Amino acid sequence: MKCALVTGGSRGIGRAICIKLGSLGYHILINFRSNLAEAEQTLSLIKAKNGTGELIPFDVSNKMEIAETLALWTEGHKQDHIEVLVNNAGIKEDTLMMWMKDEQWENVLRTNLDSFFYVTRPVLSDMLMKRYGRIINIVSLSGLKGLPGQTNYSAAKGGVIAATKALAQEVGRRGITVNAVAPGFIKTDMTENISEKEMKALIPVNRFGTSEEVAHLVAFLVSPESGYITGEVISINGGMYS
Ligand code: NAP
Repeated sequence: MKCALVTGGSRGIGRAICIKLGSLGYHILINFRSNLAEAEQTLSLIKAKNGTGELIPFDVSNKMEIAETLALWTEGHKQDHIEVLVNNAGIKEDTLMMWMKDEQWENVLRTNLDSFFYVTRPVLSDMLMKRYGRIINIVSLSGLKGLPGQTNYSAAKGGVIAATKALAQEVGRRGITVNAVAPGFIKTDMTENISEKEMKALIPVNRFGTSEEVAHLVAFLVSPESGYITGEVISINGGMYS
């Protein structure tokens, strides 16, 4: 079985990516932290499109949990390969740096940046042996230009962007591409407190994007025909300057 592991696949952008990659024939490993009902809903939506998948809960901010869960999965799936990894799970805890607590800095860095390292490393060894793989990191406009109130989130996403470029150069010879997708404002739970009505004037396309539009870009990068695109950061933000 060719598998695609999508972190944070229970809701929002991750769910749309799971459904899209499921429709392309990948067996989807739906990761999430705690929201079992939403993860099951993602799996139903995959199945409704004749796809297959399974739930693989772990907390991407906990390196022991990641290592144990992925080792267990690999042990039970000797014939299966994770060909695609989408590092999508992420959180934000916005506040001005002056008022930012240690935990707010550490939580956001662990969930958005450390997770890239601890999830990708175990998946990479199999890709290297198979001489094929696709790694897509979901970053943000915030990691490209920096946004006030998001020093933690901008630092984490900026870190993943730099790591994307470095890893792409390490593994390019082995048929593995590593790219980042940088969304602007996408309609999900993460942006539910941001007014589209107020913000859309700043967006040339004059609206927030959809998770399905992001999933479409991810599917493009995942396809075998995209093998010459690596180390890139592709923005999907309705034309906002980045
Ligand atoms: P969302 O709707 O809040 O969904 C977040 C997903 O991540 C959920 O599936 C959640 O699982 C999972 N998750 C959070 N913390 C986790 C952890 N510690 N371990 C495992 N899973 C965890 O977010 P979204 O808007 O779809 O964002 C997805 C990605 O896009 C994030 O990396 C975000 O930074 C990035 N992004 C979003 C926007 C936007 O406008 N929405 C813009 C730029 C970048 P549970 O359901 O179990 O909580």
